[in-house]
Amino acid sequence: LLEQKVHGTVLEINLNALTHNLNFYRSKLRPHVKTMAMVKAFAYGSGSHEIANWLQFQQVDYLAVAYADEGVALRERGIHIPIMVMNPTRESFDLLLQHNLEPELYSFEILTDFINYSRPLTKKAKVHIKLDTGMHRLGFEAEEIDDLIELLLKNTHIKVASIFSHLAASDEARHNGFSARQALNFKHMAEAIKKALNYHPLMHILNSPGISRFPDFQFDMVRLGVGMYGVDATSMHQDRLMTVSSLKTVVSQVKHVKKRESIGYARRGLAENDMKIATIAIGYADGFDRKFSNGVGKVLINGQLAPVIGNVCMDMTMVDVTDIICNAGDVVTVYGEKPTIFDMAESIDTIPYEILTNVSTRVKRVFY
Ligand code: PLP
Repeated sequence: LLEQKVHGTVLEINLNALTHNLNFYRSKLRPHVKTMAMVKAFAYGSGSHEIANWLQFQQVDYLAVAYADEGVALRERGIHIPIMVMNPTRESFDLLLQHNLEPELYSFEILTDFINYSRPLTKKAKVHIKLDTGMHRLGFEAEEIDDLIELLLKNTHIKVASIFSHLAASDEARHNGFSARQALNFKHMAEAIKKALNYHPLMHILNSPGISRFPDFQFDMVRLGVGMYGVDATSMHQDRLMTVSSLKTVVSQVKHVKKRESIGYARRGLAENDMKIATIAIGYADGFDRKFSNGVGKVLINGQLAPVIGNVCMDMTMVDVTDIICNAGDVVTVYGEKPTIFDMAESIDTIPYEILTNVSTRVKRVFY
């Protein structure tokens, strides 16, 4: 509460809830299946190095980030476990190698560049080979596997730490058949590479919803993201997960507005009757989307939902508290136990991932 009095808007992160969720997904894994924890995008908005540090303590096997800089920032904060970098650029190879970061390589262009770049090294450079099995985003395709094998066999200074692919629609049961075909294609392609290499790169394809739906495709490792942060994208067992992040702010001022007066920018809010409004200390610069304007978003004040009135401003938003006991300084829950991240996402037609990752860096993260 003190943090909130000082900073206005805070994102509270419950680390025990994170551990609970991590262990829930781990409990679904066969013994020896490893866990790669996704900490890209500021650990889904939760705070990169704090979360990475906690996950390292919880003995996850791998971390994954999107960019080299994210990995470097973790190394500089004492994270020593293996880190995969999903979007390496040629220009970042030096940083990757200096900081013992392992790139995802997905095309002949980037693989050849990396092979050439790392040739003078005295120790083997670990890489992760990405296969495209139907997502059509990044990755080698089935007809490229023979050439890929040939290239890898010629360049033994590259050590393939893992071979992996990504499911396009594991969160939707109606695409289960498609997901299963992806996994079988993956098995076929990855095993051909593995056999040729004559050593044992890890194989992995499951993300959080995939872990819930496809226990048969765990292979050697899973890549756990959103589920660990408290969101079950399949809705199969949301009640078994704990809420990890709660976005909270405070009431700055309470006002009485007369019938027919307007509220906020562009006079978009209109008092249809005499009303009481509260100005809360969160705006679109904090990640509270402007689409929440005028009745779309609802926040919790003293146990009751208060709808947004007028346009969301940069640092502030006005909400209708006509029927709510409300004073300056009261705590406002933007999302958490209620409203949930799902409620928020649904109201602006997006997915919980976007709500989580949109909380801007100026919002103070408080861990407990
Ligand atoms: N693997 C890859 C390649 C991803 O891009 C992501 C997230 O976008 C994940 C795993 C984690 O997915 P989820 O957050 O659904 O667990």
